[in-house]
Amino acid sequence: MRKPIIAGNWKMNKTAEEAHAFIEAVKNEVPSEDKVESVIGASALYLEKMAADTKDSDLKIAAQNCYFEDEGAFTGEVSPKALGEMELDYVIIGHSERREYFHETDEDVNKKAHAIFRNGMLPIICCGETLEQREAGETNEWVKGQVTNALKDMTEGQVMNAVIAYEPIWAIGTGKSSSAEEANQTCGVIRDTLKDLYGQGVADAVRIQYGGSVKPANIAEYMAQEHIDGALVGGASIEPDSFLALLEAVNK
Ligand code: PGA
Repeated sequence: MRKPIIAGNWKMNKTAEEAHAFIEAVKNEVPSEDKVESVIGASALYLEKMAADTKDSDLKIAAQNCYFEDEGAFTGEVSPKALGEMELDYVIIGHSERREYFHETDEDVNKKAHAIFRNGMLPIICCGETLEQREAGETNEWVKGQVTNALKDMTEGQVMNAVIAYEPIWAIGTGKSSSAEEANQTCGVIRDTLKDLYGQGVADAVRIQYGGSVKPANIAEYMAQEHIDGALVGGASIEPDSFLALLEAVNK
């Protein structure tokens, strides 16, 4: 039985003060982590404080990016070693916005995933197709390639603990969510890819999230699908009430 994982992705939203107010409002309201994992992905600017403030709660904290080297002459980058020292749980990598605006490649995503494991955290690895690719019938091959490349040279133990977020790019922030059946079909392709690469046991263990215009009103439909184990949520994770409503819909 895979434990559901709901991760908010704030993107480049909230000041330190706003982040603090959110954490105070939700940290003691999230479900027990034995039943549902609740995660917030925030700006690197205040992760340290968020991690410290949630230490005794069931809310987990994620970075939204990191570099793949631990340290060195990489001006402006976020060190995975420093994130690991903050005892963060997860780092989101390969988000389509990072791929599009910051030219993150599959190879970068793979190197980042290795850096995240090396520093004691777990990756949430994003993948997903554009509308053009979907219309051209290329979704399955594309997503399969992204997942295969992201996991290159990983051990079975690492892959079992990684989280994969399937986010069709055309559904992100557009209000146009993929139907639950369509999303499940592609998540099934991801699980088959994991099976081909690492065997049935690993494929059955990996949690796959759907992301793209998930909100309290539609999350239950996604969670009811065989291959969907959680959600990566942007817009609907910004306000405490909405984030808690997502968790409540899952923790039934
Ligand atoms: P959205 O974003 O929920 O606002 O569509 C999802 C994401 O980009 O992770």
